[in-house]
Amino acid sequence: MKVLVAEKCGFCPGVRNAINLAKKTLEKNNVVYSLGPIIHNEDVVRQLAETGLHTVSRIDEIDTGTVLIRSHGATLAELQEIHTKGLNVVDATCILVKRVQKIACLLYDEGYHVIIVGDRNHPEVRAVVGSAPDVDVAGTEDDLSKIRLGKKLGIICQTTQSPDYFVQMVAAIARRGFSEIKVINTLCRETMERQEAAVKLCRQVDIMFVLGGLHSANTQKLAELCKKHNPQTFHLQNWQELDKCILFGKQTAGVTAGASTPDEVIDVFVQHLRAFEP
Ligand code: SF4
Repeated sequence: MKVLVAEKCGFCPGVRNAINLAKKTLEKNNVVYSLGPIIHNEDVVRQLAETGLHTVSRIDEIDTGTVLIRSHGATLAELQEIHTKGLNVVDATCILVKRVQKIACLLYDEGYHVIIVGDRNHPEVRAVVGSAPDVDVAGTEDDLSKIRLGKKLGIICQTTQSPDYFVQMVAAIARRGFSEIKVINTLCRETMERQEAAVKLCRQVDIMFVLGGLHSANTQKLAELCKKHNPQTFHLQNWQELDKCILFGKQTAGVTAGASTPDEVIDVFVQHLRAFEP
């Protein structure tokens, strides 16, 4: 089968850095804890667990040792709790996520009511909410009726959202009235480049595959976007999950992958698909 791979896909620098830091930390320490999954990819989390990385959801599950802060970051309260317990910290927060946290604090200091556009349940958004006082989350236009929209609004976005969604939400916020709005583009360039490359590819293929963890926000967004441009889009974690029946009648397939999908997963999928005769 003819297979085209997106010009940009797979691991981003933030994820690569977090995994490298985890491996280096595990070489020096017998037991290392990760506050939440280090990245949203079950295979990578399993491999690191085999070498001693314990994933916990709360700090009170850790008594001693080293805590790795994942690429999505942690809230100020969590960092303070880690410090109070005297635990050793290795910070793998992506610099772009740190930038969003810093901008939220600066906007607050300048007197803006900070609104982050994104998914309130995502760890990155929770960390931003917990890094500055009085930050509200706008996930949908319905949320806006519940938010106290002050006159001076400072708007930022979860790094992995799409530009279209950010623009749509900024317009919806502006329609509700304001005296001043400061919008800071906090979208991640790496994510946008993956989205642009995927949309381009969608138009050239009969069927499109988006590879990555089912809980990975940027992979989910990539799949949603591809589905809009090619209804024959499938979000899978690996080659084993593919139902081969869907390939019948298809000549050309496209493959892209989220920022937390390892190169091996993409390579294996592409090799098998190229060898497959529908
Ligand atoms: S997707 Fe962007 S913001 Fe998220 S970890 Fe990767 S580089 Fe950082």
